[in-house]
Amino acid sequence: MKRIGVFTSGGDAPGMNACIRAVVRTGIHHGLEVVGITKGYQGILDKNFKVMTSHSVSGIIQKGGTILKSARCVEFRTKKGRKQAYKNLKAAGIDGIVAIGGDGTFTGADVFMKEFPDIKFIGCPGTIDNDLYGTDFTIGYDTAINTAMEAIDKIKDTASADARLFFIEVMGRDVGFIALRSAIAAGAETVLLPETKTDIKQLTKTIEAQYKKKEGSSIIVIVAEGEEMGGAVKVAKKVAKKFTALPTRVTILGHVQRGGSPTAAERVNASWMGVEAVRALVAGKKGIMIGVVNNEVVHTPFEKAIKHNREISPTLLDMIEILA
Ligand code: ATP
Repeated sequence: MKRIGVFTSGGDAPGMNACIRAVVRTGIHHGLEVVGITKGYQGILDKNFKVMTSHSVSGIIQKGGTILKSARCVEFRTKKGRKQAYKNLKAAGIDGIVAIGGDGTFTGADVFMKEFPDIKFIGCPGTIDNDLYGTDFTIGYDTAINTAMEAIDKIKDTASADARLFFIEVMGRDVGFIALRSAIAAGAETVLLPETKTDIKQLTKTIEAQYKKKEGSSIIVIVAEGEEMGGAVKVAKKVAKKFTALPTRVTILGHVQRGGSPTAAERVNASWMGVEAVRALVAGKKGIMIGVVNNEVVHTPFEKAIKHNREISPTLLDMIEILA
């Protein structure tokens, strides 16, 4: 292997730049030429290839977003599109790729490698949602939790001045990891997740009990966007009909959770995964996602990383009730 590519794909996440930097510099360390591919799979089809130097990744470790940009590529979902991608990669002499992305990105890589096995893909989990099996954390997750926590802290400042019932919606379409962690970190009264049933009667009871316990202070409810009732606006409307002691306010944090300078933990983990991805390519591996589980590097086949579900910790869920 002489020439490898690196790209970011799907939803962008803070820490992707740290991972790109690690891939480029580790590749150079191993005597490889590293090609930056702009805009994910679309970039392969458009031949957006540029040889990277150590200098081209200077000063990016602290930056959110991704210098290689990201894209969703419909053409790559077709056999014709993937054939063209193969031709372009072969013509550019690229025979190994580090793909930084989420489950869609790895599904695409898996399909491609079954058709064209001589191009080796290694994945680094890049998504704020933490919804991949085979790693304790994905790139972007820690920063997103911290961003959500800081926003909730700010709402708590105003909440302490004037009592209201706050519903704060955080990202998480299919999984509630950001919601659960940010709720614990910010000391919310309760949390609604895609993994649990939303029972308005029970929720109203919890809010009433907390209102009594806190002698009329504000109540904070964290809602994952994929919670089964359809998010904070819908839940707030239903609760407001039953609980009238406090005025209701809804905040949707949205895309702020995708941005910002990555946390120290994020930068270290993303760098680690980038280094390990290149090491795996050099060792001749392919079709695996790099993960870190219990502080050890783990290689998980794409298919398993995508399809296996990670469970929400019941211990963390219980903690919310105990600590509220
Ligand atoms: P996030 O978790 O942030 O959404 P993702 O990697 O899951 O990130 P997707 O948009 O689902 O993001 O996938 C990224 C790209 O992967 C798609 O735009 C498409 O080009 C490719 N891809 C996804 N699924 C397939 C598939 N079944 N076959 C071929 N390519 C695919």
